Amino acid sequence: MSLTKSFKREKPTGNFDVILIGSGPGSFTAASLLSRVAGKRVLILEKHYTPGGFTHVFKRRGFEWDVGIHYLGEFHREKGMSGRLMRYLCDDQLRWEELGEVYDKIIFGQEVYEFKKGIDNFKDTLKGYFPEEQEAIDRYIDLVYQLQFAARDFFMEKALSGIPRRLASRRMRKDFLALSGKSTLEVLRSLTDNQKLIGVLTGQYGDYGLTPGQSSFAMHAMVVKHYLNGACFPVGGCEQIFETIAKPIIDTGSEIFTNAAVEEIILSDGKCKGVRMEDGSEWFAPAVISGAGIHNTFRKLVKESFKDQEAYSEQIEALNASASHIALYLGFEESSESLGLERPNFWIYPEHGYDHDHNLNRYLEDPEVDFPMIYVSFPSAKDPDWPRRYPGKSTVDVITMAPYTWFKPWEGTRWMKRGEDYEAFKEKLSKRLLDKIFEYLPQLKGKVAHYELSTPLSTHNFCSYAQGEIYGIEHTPERFKSPILRPHTPIKNLFLTGQDIVTCGIGGAMLSGVITASAMQKKNLLKGII
Ligand SMILES: Cc1cc2nc3c(=O)[nH]c(=O)nc-3n(C[C@H](O)[C@H](O)[C@H](O)COP(=O)(O)OP(=O)(O)OC[C@H]3O[C@@H](n4cnc5c(N)ncnc54)[C@H](O)[C@@H]3O)c2cc1C
Repeated sequence: MSLTKSFKREKPTGNFDVILIGSGPGSFTAASLLSRVAGKRVLILEKHYTPGGFTHVFKRRGFEWDVGIHYLGEFHREKGMSGRLMRYLCDDQLRWEELGEVYDKIIFGQEVYEFKKGIDNFKDTLKGYFPEEQEAIDRYIDLVYQLQFAARDFFMEKALSGIPRRLASRRMRKDFLALSGKSTLEVLRSLTDNQKLIGVLTGQYGDYGLTPGQSSFAMHAMVVKHYLNGACFPVGGCEQIFETIAKPIIDTGSEIFTNAAVEEIILSDGKCKGVRMEDGSEWFAPAVISGAGIHNTFRKLVKESFKDQEAYSEQIEALNASASHIALYLGFEESSESLGLERPNFWIYPEHGYDHDHNLNRYLEDPEVDFPMIYVSFPSAKDPDWPRRYPGKSTVDVITMAPYTWFKPWEGTRWMKRGEDYEAFKEKLSKRLLDKIFEYLPQLKGKVAHYELSTPLSTHNFCSYAQGEIYGIEHTPERFKSPILRPHTPIKNLFLTGQDIVTCGIGGAMLSGVITASAMQKKNLLKGII
């Protein structure tokens, strides 16, 4: 039985305490805590026909691909907040499979650097590659942990409001801001001038979508730390995440709708009252949470004026959208085993291309040059349940950066009907990506049974990010200084959640759900459940 209902066929029944816009990890975490811990009846409204935000999968021609999850850290661990929170949310119904000792392979031409599970293992492997950089590697990991430690207070401050916030804010933010205010490159250059080491250490930069010269060291450090204890993948595929978390929410009498696009957030006397849907129907509740991203919320959904609008809007305009991507989804009529597909991800960079900023700038100026980064994931090899669900088949995901401007000429066209020139452009990009991955996986050549390329227009179409951005607001040093990326908004009863409030990544977005629900209830809802 489906846990969600289609808004096209059915409508919500009864009264709700909270309406949530979007069903991504921020929203479903807040919905779970508010319904199960705080006893609220919640209504989740999701625009897409599939729930879960970027945790959703799509199925075509007998294959299944993940859209916005390729690997996760921490959730497989018995200890630690993330694992315990996840176990509570899914009622202990979700199993995780580890990727193994090696989770990422950072590749420059034919040089391969492995990232291995466990702090000592990770450090020792890197010291093996760079024996003259032992001290820099130790100091680097110390800084990653220093940042992680400071992050706890920094993010928890976001749940505060009024006098407690005024009293505690400076103290809770200052240690984090001291490091987040610097770029990743700035911090790494203070440790070493070895460009090759810097290139390797930042080999996961695609996980937050910003090169070392642009990204905040805070974002870099949090991603590094997230995977240091190994990486995992949900058994049964990524749709299990939403499925297992939604069930206990529904059991409280709450409701979840897909095909439910919110058109406007209704204000009255400057207070939020509810939402107006694309079909014109209106739904009311004492509180509304938007998990659709701060730009979407304030540029598209809030249409009436509100208190302090000018100053707030200026701060919103100072926040830029993150980069956008193309993804090539490949299907094979052979098992992962017979194709020799492994679990670790490949991060492929140009030969000797240790300067990621240079590679990206060159590519943006001339798209014909080498791709600045190609990420390759092997979902069918990661999921131990895959052979049962899709016997004799396998899939590979290939991702690289691609600016929205390349696809702007087709803005406003309809999905699957964007025209021959669009298809020809996609075909050219697909062929280039295929040629590249055949260099590293020659056994796949001649065996591709299905391929299709998603573009930033697909991300716009299915997840509503205006520029097809991959990770919401970009993770620069400025982002972390912004005072508005928090649950409270200037509009009474309207709250924000999702990756813009904490950081991108399922872990970051789920923490935002905890923070938003706690801010609304004025108490830490994690206490007692983990
Ligand atoms: C290609 C890609 C790969 C990724 N890989 C990983 C990974 O391996 N590991 C990891 O941890 N993270 C990964 N991420 C990041 C992660 O998926 C996101 O950071 C996370 O899903 C963001 O969660 P969110 O709560 O902000 O909501 P989102 O997942 O962004 O969902 C927001 C939802 O709101 C809905 N919505 C928007 N407007 C409306 C409206 N008007 N009415 C109703 N609904 C609306 C959208 O349709 C969407 O479903 C990846 C992301 C991408 C794009």
